[in-house]
Amino acid sequence: MQFTSIPHPAPTSDEDRIAAIQDPGFGKVHTDHMVVIDYDANKGGWYQASIGPREPIALDPAASVLHYAQEIFEGMKAFPHADGGLCMFRPEANAQRFNASARRMAMPEIPEELFLEAVKLAVQKDANWMPPVDGGSLYIRPFMFANEAFLGVRPATQYKFVVIVVSTGSYFKGGVNPVKIWVSQDYTRAAPGGTGAAKTGGNYAASLVPQAEAIAQGCDQVVFLDAEEKKWVEELGGMNLFFIRRDGSVITPPLTGTILPGITRDSLIAMLREEGLEVREEPYSIGQWREEAENGELLETLACGTAAVVTPVGTVASPSGEFTIGTGGIGQMAQKMREKLVGVQNGRVADQHGWVMRV
Ligand SMILES: *Cc1c(COP(=O)(O)O)cnc(C)c1O
Repeated sequence: MQFTSIPHPAPTSDEDRIAAIQDPGFGKVHTDHMVVIDYDANKGGWYQASIGPREPIALDPAASVLHYAQEIFEGMKAFPHADGGLCMFRPEANAQRFNASARRMAMPEIPEELFLEAVKLAVQKDANWMPPVDGGSLYIRPFMFANEAFLGVRPATQYKFVVIVVSTGSYFKGGVNPVKIWVSQDYTRAAPGGTGAAKTGGNYAASLVPQAEAIAQGCDQVVFLDAEEKKWVEELGGMNLFFIRRDGSVITPPLTGTILPGITRDSLIAMLREEGLEVREEPYSIGQWREEAENGELLETLACGTAAVVTPVGTVASPSGEFTIGTGGIGQMAQKMREKLVGVQNGRVADQHGWVMRV
């Protein structure tokens, strides 16, 4: 498919752009362009692709996304390398997961090559928004939603696929801080047969009340238990978990359909195995978590995802009290895995798996 290039009538001035990317934080310094590809089942599928100025999108008030929430997204990053080039981390895995989410939400798949081309174009176009700070990146947000004007309940026939980019500073400004997490008692994130494994906005909407509860309890994040037994630890609102044990084993909850299959999770499984650890994908209960934290069998708990890479969990709080993991600080394995993963991403550590793709 050919991308039409629409010139930007008024791009951000060099002066404003350079000022904006000095300390961009996360999610608010938007670049100048976006990619848009339209889909219409009655026009044979994906039919119109462009890269042009980032601007508001007009929607009919009956657009089905506004009523029935047919929406999916991805989150990925482009990193600067020392030679001035830009690289993405396992973008084909994001393309595949995007299509898995699309299938679950009864949305059309987008050819993997088209997804990758769209993402690359968006990054190349706004490469000069890369923040000149250590740990900076371009965060790429591809998403798709139903924009057919129809109030009947059925999969829509029209969709928009869009890629936007934000300039992003280091998540670890001022060092890595262990997080304190709140065990949600009253809310669950995903039920068997539900949409927990799809990266869809609705899962996040459902997590906002428990997340607010976590904040009110003085915690940073919420951790969800399984919906059936309220016993098995699943994941945080947007990060997967690993339990590092003294006996050299590592447990991470299995992908049974209620957990989002993180690409960082998958990468960590491989990297921890390379450290000689025995990684098992098996259920881990909240009781076991507390017991092993208290008797010292559990050395560390890691939370992982694209945004924060690898973050240590320091303290776990619930209405029945708190417990601390290890010393409550950053553990050896968290430090090692974070450095290695960041190193592969920015080209300072050899990429043995072919995970890095040049843009
Ligand atoms: C995106 C996401 C993750 C992390 O996935 P990565 O591919 O590692 O960024 C974990 N949990 C949820 C619920 C997510 O939406």
